[in-house]
Amino acid sequence: QADIDISALALSPRRGGPKNLPILEYYIDDDDSEEMRRQKDKPRLVILGGGWGGVSLIKELDPDNYHVTVISPANYFLFTPMLPSATVGTLGLRSLVEPIRRIVHGIGGHFLRARAEDVDFSARLVEVSQVDCNGVEQRFYVPYDKLVIAVGSVTNPHGVKGLEHCHFLRDINDAREIRNKVIQNLELACLPTTTDEERKRLLSFVVCGGGPTGVEFAAELFDLLNEDLIQLFPRLLRNEISVHLIQSRDHILNTYDETLSKYAEDRFARDQVEVLTNSRVSEVRPDSIVFTQKDADGGIVTKELPMGFCLWSTGVSQNEFCRRLAKKLGSAQSNRRALETDTHLRLNGTPLGDVYAIGDCATVQNNVADHIVTFLRSLAWKHGSDPERLQLRFSDWRSVAEQVKRRFPQAVGHLRRLDKLFAEYDRDQSGTLDFGELRELLRQIDRKLTSLPATAQRAHQQGQYLARKFNKLARATPALRANDILDGDLDAAVYKAFEYKHLGSLAYIGNSAVFDLGKGWGLAGGLWAVYAWRSIYFAQSVSFRTRVMMAMDWAKRGLFGRDLMSY
Ligand code: FAD
Repeated sequence: QADIDISALALSPRRGGPKNLPILEYYIDDDDSEEMRRQKDKPRLVILGGGWGGVSLIKELDPDNYHVTVISPANYFLFTPMLPSATVGTLGLRSLVEPIRRIVHGIGGHFLRARAEDVDFSARLVEVSQVDCNGVEQRFYVPYDKLVIAVGSVTNPHGVKGLEHCHFLRDINDAREIRNKVIQNLELACLPTTTDEERKRLLSFVVCGGGPTGVEFAAELFDLLNEDLIQLFPRLLRNEISVHLIQSRDHILNTYDETLSKYAEDRFARDQVEVLTNSRVSEVRPDSIVFTQKDADGGIVTKELPMGFCLWSTGVSQNEFCRRLAKKLGSAQSNRRALETDTHLRLNGTPLGDVYAIGDCATVQNNVADHIVTFLRSLAWKHGSDPERLQLRFSDWRSVAEQVKRRFPQAVGHLRRLDKLFAEYDRDQSGTLDFGELRELLRQIDRKLTSLPATAQRAHQQGQYLARKFNKLARATPALRANDILDGDLDAAVYKAFEYKHLGSLAYIGNSAVFDLGKGWGLAGGLWAVYAWRSIYFAQSVSFRTRVMMAMDWAKRGLFGRDLMSY
């Protein structure tokens, strides 16, 4: 087969689609061999985004089943959990990235450095833009049989004025800019011509947002100031430098167990990182931050804090591309923060059911509770009882659950949780639950299953889930397709619904770390915890090359200190 290029990508002379643009096609040799026929039949899988979701999918996918094309404006995968360490030179920027081409090449796929602009769901075409060598934007279509949207998110501005004076921490370039700005402020503060007041402002570092990213950045910054800069900038007095963390809730790390957020707050208080809780930023000015703070009596006070550097890290929202798609899909998409999918991760409202959305750009909408309630109601009517007065005996639950499971395979997660709740309610399971209580329990479970965190952990699990399902779909026999499809739903026939498993959260808080293991379990500690935190991320790093580079960075930092040149 060496002389046959079976899957080269080429722009066909064909134009088409709603905008009459050129259409990118797989070139497949016109030879009539069995292999060629097999290649021609392979579905085209297009993945938008080369981040956590996209890469986990690629790594788990059986390369023989699909023609894969990955489209992303960034030609690297970024290992985000260690990005705060790169802002202060603890790790090098190149230690956190892996060329996406290398990953895609591993499965014989194609990579296009371009941006998805729109999707025509009926014609199965993604509209893509790319700036050519003359600086002119070119647009074309990429056809698909299956499309996966994994384009991540953007920082949530919360409607605050003046964010152009802030830095963000989402990408490798952001980390570079932050490092340069921190060092530039320190250099300026050292100049003999800088006044005392100006020096204080330059050395006032503010972080808006007390989630894991804001907290880890504040911790890394504190380490840098405390460990390296005091020696390198002897003219600067340590008490002239200040780090402030502004948080709208009453605790930092508020999604973690309360004892862990308290531990982090105490640690910051000891390290003189000022934590301003119950505080909302209303405006960012070129040299100060205006915020309101709730005082002990519930009154609101407006304050202004001089600043020389501000990081804005207050959660995520939808990017322009996803907003466009959500608008196009109309009432099927009612969430303003992310694209809604069903529990099989299929985008709600698409006509052909062949588009999936995963990671930060997506949220799973269940509505399974409503389906189960309607089903139970119909069962009750069938048996001549009034559903509103129905008393369901726990001992009968199993047979009801079996019927629900047959009707709604996507409800498995709900049923498992209900079983657990029943067991907690009533250990010998001889009591009863009325219909109203059951409905409320189901709704609670729905809400729990729907509000998944925007984390690498979730994007990774969803990417893996889709890859396993796609592998099964490709192997699904014609007999299965014909006979076993429930309600015409091939996805549900070949694979279970997606269920998120929370494996815990970690955060570095400055020469110590906290681990939230869920269900009230947590660990916090000093040096041992830092090494455990490093080891976990070291093991998860994307390639052997990045692991070696990370280990070398930590060794260099131990021997020579952090890299503090701005370039
Ligand atoms: P991303 O990884 O953001 O990837 C999106 C991809 O889509 C990128 O390749 C981008 O170039 C591409 N793209 C964007 N627009 C388009 C377009 N129009 N067309 C085509 N491609 C497009 N999570 C954790 O679980 N643990 C942590 O410790 C942790 N730390 C973090 C630290 C920082 C500083 C940040 C920023 C995030 C952190 N996260 C962490 C969150 C985690 O990084 C995200 O949840 C995860 O990256 C989401 O994966 P994703 O695939 O949805 O999006």
